[in-house]
Amino acid sequence: MKASNESTQKCKKDYERQLAKLWPALKGSLAQVFKPCIRKNCPACARGDKHAAWILSYTDQGRRRCLYVPEALVPLIRQGIENGRKLEQLLYRTGPALVKAHRQQIAKSPGNKGE
Ligand SMILES: [Zn+2]
Repeated sequence: MKASNESTQKCKKDYERQLAKLWPALKGSLAQVFKPCIRKNCPACARGDKHAAWILSYTDQGRRRCLYVPEALVPLIRQGIENGRKLEQLLYRTGPALVKAHRQQIAKSPGNKGE
């Protein structure tokens, strides 16, 4: 159906524009932990000062997993978690947007009463 197709295409463009801004999007949580290292005779560990490390917790096929995150990647991972929330919002908006756009398209079409 033509009307439906036009409204769908507009939604798709909006969706793609928003999706493009959401790289990277991920799910998980980032936490800082303090651990001793594996080096022998580490002065920091000898003093009892542990080393800060970042851990990403995530779920893989229902199983909780953890991964060390290099310091350099922390800002990107943080951004990814924030984008993951925005992506979820986008997903929630997409269904209603499709339905509303379809209705508007129907209302605009001559000789067509809404469904
Ligand atoms: Zn150490």
